[in-house]
Amino acid sequence: MLTRRKFGALAASLPTLLHNCGPASRSEAEREPAESGDVLSRSIVFDAHCDTPSRMLSEGIGLGESKSYHQVDIGRMREGGITASFFAIFAGAGSHTPLESVKKGLEIGEMIVREVRRYPDDLLLATTADDILRAKREGKIAILLSLEGGHMIDESLGVLRAFRRLGVRSFGLTHSSHTPWASSAEKPGGPDGLTDYGHEIVREANRLGMVLDLAHASDETFFDTLETTSAPIISSHTCCRAIANQKRNMSDAMLKALAENGGVLDIGYYNGMIVENYGRPRPDLSDLNARRKKIAEEFAGDRERRLEALWQVNKEEAERMGRPGFDRLLDHFEHAATVAGVDHVGFGSDLDAARHLYPEAVDDIAETANLVPGLRGRGFSDEDISKILGGNNLRVLREAERTAAA
Ligand SMILES: [Zn+2]
Repeated sequence: MLTRRKFGALAASLPTLLHNCGPASRSEAEREPAESGDVLSRSIVFDAHCDTPSRMLSEGIGLGESKSYHQVDIGRMREGGITASFFAIFAGAGSHTPLESVKKGLEIGEMIVREVRRYPDDLLLATTADDILRAKREGKIAILLSLEGGHMIDESLGVLRAFRRLGVRSFGLTHSSHTPWASSAEKPGGPDGLTDYGHEIVREANRLGMVLDLAHASDETFFDTLETTSAPIISSHTCCRAIANQKRNMSDAMLKALAENGGVLDIGYYNGMIVENYGRPRPDLSDLNARRKKIAEEFAGDRERRLEALWQVNKEEAERMGRPGFDRLLDHFEHAATVAGVDHVGFGSDLDAARHLYPEAVDDIAETANLVPGLRGRGFSDEDISKILGGNNLRVLREAERTAAA
């Protein structure tokens, strides 16, 4: 495992992959770089997508405890320099009816609020950009609520407004299934982008100051949304199609449209987005599934041991599937900044969503700090790195507030 500390030393010895990489810049790279911590401590570090809440509900994981089998908690968010994080409220559309999703969504949202209040010295429930700045001043981490998937409102503007009252500040228009009013990137068929009602939902989200999140939306939904929205959008855990041709990733045309809209592509860490044809040909993992089943039975009454044993299996799965190097992840940051501009790139870790299927050097949220030497190695200035770490996401959040006020 390439830990953050190990990576820091490695980064200093990496050749600079700068576009204008002359002898001068090479000797720059040989010099001891300024501490990553300087950039981290100066920046608003804003993770646009954290999937821990679903695991909090289903596995009883708490933010105050640091265990090997999950990836986000207070201690590791602090280590990674996190200032703010969108905590996803999500129920799978395949396993819940829309009405059940609404119920589960309320339960998860309420649970996050309760968990944040358990740690008043560390966490702060944020609903505005100013709340994030206050968290930074007070040395706390701002937790924001995001609603992942249009199915979570069961076609009701009233439910959308109710989630806003709970504190939700971003709204993903689809997950992996279509809604009756918007098509997803992950299934054929469905509506042709946004229906009239879909456009109405976009306008209502603008009015409520909710940032629209197109992470799972089809290309048609993406372009239809840009036509209607009066505020910048995000795509909270997505990568670049030019590097990994995957329907959920953004094409260069989308990146250019995003720049015009003023929005942000938040690069996600999941291997399936980072590399094309990830895990293909698929190795035989049937023995791992059998082991998972056995573990579930053997430790049915011992949550701690069960989760720990399952995590070991997940790690083995990740190794067999092949872990991309950290450079593959950095490629997406570099490409997005080249095509859309550095003002339109951020990160959305998507941690705790995909077992252990993340690249090297981002094993958990503490390793967010690795982005600093990694991006420096790609020629980004510390000022640009600060934008990517969260300055851009903060700007979009504030713009959504201005739009709502207008
Ligand atoms: Zn997602």
